[in-house]
Amino acid sequence: MNATSTKQKSSDRTNVAIIGMGTVGAGVARLLIDHGDRTARHAGKTIWLSKAVVRDLSKPRGIDLPEGVLTDSIDDVLNDPEIDVVIQLMGGLSPAREVMLRAMEAGKDIVTANKALLAEHGAELFTRARELGRSIAFEAAVAGGIPIIANISQCLSANQIESLEGILNGTSNFIVSQMDEKGAGYDETVKRAQELGYAEADPAMDVDGTDAAQKLAILSHLAFGATVDWRDIPRNGIDGLDPADLVYARQLGYRIKLLATARLVDGELELSVAPTLVAIGTPMAEVRDAFNAIRVVGDAVGPVFYHGLGAGQMPTASAVVADVIDTAVGRTPITFETLEYFSVERPPRTAQRDVDRLRGRYYLRLRVANDPGTLAAIAGVLSSHSISIASVIQHEPKSKDEANAAENTVPLVIMTHEASEGAASRATTDIEALPAISGQVVRMPVRE
Ligand code: NAP
Repeated sequence: MNATSTKQKSSDRTNVAIIGMGTVGAGVARLLIDHGDRTARHAGKTIWLSKAVVRDLSKPRGIDLPEGVLTDSIDDVLNDPEIDVVIQLMGGLSPAREVMLRAMEAGKDIVTANKALLAEHGAELFTRARELGRSIAFEAAVAGGIPIIANISQCLSANQIESLEGILNGTSNFIVSQMDEKGAGYDETVKRAQELGYAEADPAMDVDGTDAAQKLAILSHLAFGATVDWRDIPRNGIDGLDPADLVYARQLGYRIKLLATARLVDGELELSVAPTLVAIGTPMAEVRDAFNAIRVVGDAVGPVFYHGLGAGQMPTASAVVADVIDTAVGRTPITFETLEYFSVERPPRTAQRDVDRLRGRYYLRLRVANDPGTLAAIAGVLSSHSISIASVIQHEPKSKDEANAAENTVPLVIMTHEASEGAASRATTDIEALPAISGQVVRMPVRE
């Protein structure tokens, strides 16, 4: 409960305003109002919800706000000198960017969950915050309820992070794990995810790898001091994933996951987002439904694994309110200043490795002529690119489904030994040009 009904500012109270009372905003308001005693205990002072800004005052919010809190005027927040912290929970880039800048200029510290805004305008917003002596907390922007920002920036700060890989998009993971478990097709699974509220009406940025790349760009900055534009991260999504690949992967001892990877190799940073074969029996392979997971390897701590809900009202609100408490207590301003997040003055510590030089094993699936000599021709192309074959699956066709009788073609699956991305990509192009190959080669990286 809000501990007092009189609106007065004192050192034992931090006044906050929420801008955007949608899914996350309503969850944050619920925690602040229903559990004010809990937040006060952890902050050592009352966290007082002064204002909540929406566009449409008549829309039901699923929560009873005290009289006078709900408003459709952002100026009610910006012009109120008693409000210390703005919790910025409207999505999109504009007017979110302008509102954040104006709030900082009005002397407010910021807490936000808007990852797209930080991925796009992070440098500008963080620089301006430093100029104004303000702080921006953004735990909820990556992996929702999993406290990965605090862990990388603070708890693991004795380490050189060596690698970081994760399932950073719950929508994609829900779709892939449902397809895997139910044997369903991509389109029908997306529809089901939308009905259950796990996918937006337009899930493009979730399924094409954009969302995961934006989060990986933020984590790479924190973990490796890299300044990476998310557009420069090589990425493939799960859109159009063929259930046949999930079946073959399982036969080979793997599951397919949309994996975001950052690895330090000889001082350079390998970055990628791709549907990846992950070995069954490893914790990452068992991350199901809308869950997220991140595996971090530090040189002192070794491997650490985080697992939890990366989105949803209350998991995201959990991270937002923790940031509000840290800001009220004064922890965020200290870490914000010392870590110099996204500082243009601090040169990047790590450069991104050219995509052609990424290394790993590969899974290839292709449809080939059912003729003698085809496998030898493919092996010849791979060998010309210095890629050796680890294993091959080619079942005898049992049905018309497996053997396209008209074309006399059969599916062939190849697992390679380690190769560079450049060699694998060129070999794929050359294989597709062979007369014995029909259609495109499906190619995915493999992780043990
Ligand atoms: P949402 O449900 O669409 O809510 C957005 C809210 O912002 C709505 O209340 C809307 O008001 C308000 N708003 C938008 N433009 C406004 C404007 N110009 N002036 C005043 N209010 C405005 O979004 P959400 O799911 O809560 O997500 C909020 C942010 O958190 C996004 O950046 C999202 O990426 C991030 N995030 C979300 C999740 C999640 O699980 N949902 C997880 C992690 C991060 P009306 O309701 O009146 O239209």
